[in-house]
Amino acid sequence: MKYALQIAGLHKRFGDTLALGGIDLALPRGQVLALLGPSGCGKTTLLRCIAGLADADDGEIHLDGECVAAPGRHLSPDDRRLGMVFQDYALWPHMSVYQNVAFPLEMQGVKPNARRPQVEWALSLVGLADYAERAPGALSGGQQQRVALARAIVARPRLLLMDEPLSNLDKGLRESLALEIRGLIEELNLTAVFVTHDQHEAFALADRVAVLQQGRLQQVDSPEALFHTPATPAIAEFVDAGTLLDGRLNASGLAIADTQLPMAAACGYRGDVRLLLPRRALRLCAPDDGLLRARITGRLFQGEHLSLQLTLADGSALKLHASHAPERGCQVGIDLDVTALRAWDDRAHLLDLMPHADVTATATG
Ligand code: ATP
Repeated sequence: MKYALQIAGLHKRFGDTLALGGIDLALPRGQVLALLGPSGCGKTTLLRCIAGLADADDGEIHLDGECVAAPGRHLSPDDRRLGMVFQDYALWPHMSVYQNVAFPLEMQGVKPNARRPQVEWALSLVGLADYAERAPGALSGGQQQRVALARAIVARPRLLLMDEPLSNLDKGLRESLALEIRGLIEELNLTAVFVTHDQHEAFALADRVAVLQQGRLQQVDSPEALFHTPATPAIAEFVDAGTLLDGRLNASGLAIADTQLPMAAACGYRGDVRLLLPRRALRLCAPDDGLLRARITGRLFQGEHLSLQLTLADGSALKLHASHAPERGCQVGIDLDVTALRAWDDRAHLLDLMPHADVTATATG
């Protein structure tokens, strides 16, 4: 299969810092990939290597089957035929909106008369056909980012690269621009890669999300798979997939706080475990009705739901959304869908937990 983007064995060091530790990726045409990870994990370096703005130490990058980077080969950014959108818009303030959008065509030697229909097409796609003569400084942040988007797509790039495209915008605008960008990508059948440290931005825009940590890809999956089946506790925490708690698998089952659940690891592992309790697996109930008992220690009204912090008998805290809840300080029960639990052993290897058919809990405390 010919991929729009294919990366094999990409390495990059800055002195003692390993920025990219062997990246392998393949992206089919028409897909959007988010590079997600904490600050310093190597996202920007990877994006810059794809763009041709940085040179890798080893490995290869292919665009539509064409090798654009390999040891001894480095195609210039202009020759890679990419569109780029930056966090800070990066528009030229002394040029009009029209001139900004026309610039990539000018660089490609397209004659002024031939430029006009393409610029008008790109501006109308982002809803700014009437703003061509304005200066970028006379536009809102969202409008400026739409101009940057028009400039990135005007020359019909084979790959669209975006560096935190929504992070300078406020929440409402982020959502509407995410919808617009998504619509545009689908309409034009674009392939895109974008960098973000915000899982909401990644989930809103991407077909696939690649989680990077310390220069290495940890998991590449759909947003749904990443959220529901994170490969490691660190990914679960990063995508805010629920509450992470410490537990212990022993001869009698799985111990969480003062409760013992009749569950075991399929491989027979005994010892400390890290547990993910997804919010959807937890339900508030009367103090004596749940598998776990807790006290409400935080209660925030968030419109559609209450965001609760609950403290278990051993002092560990968990987060839960509910439509109603008693006041702060009250004792409650928590019903737990044990089939939704995810557990890792003390070396962060995923465990296959086996729930008994009829789960009953016995308090040990
Ligand atoms: P952020 O979200 O903060 O931008 P990032 O995930 O994009 O972070 P990179 O900018 O790719 O991370 O940096 C990866 C690592 O390489 C970091 O440890 C960074 O300090 C280092 N690094 C990046 N660029 C350089 C450089 N030009 N010189 C030295 N070290 C660098």
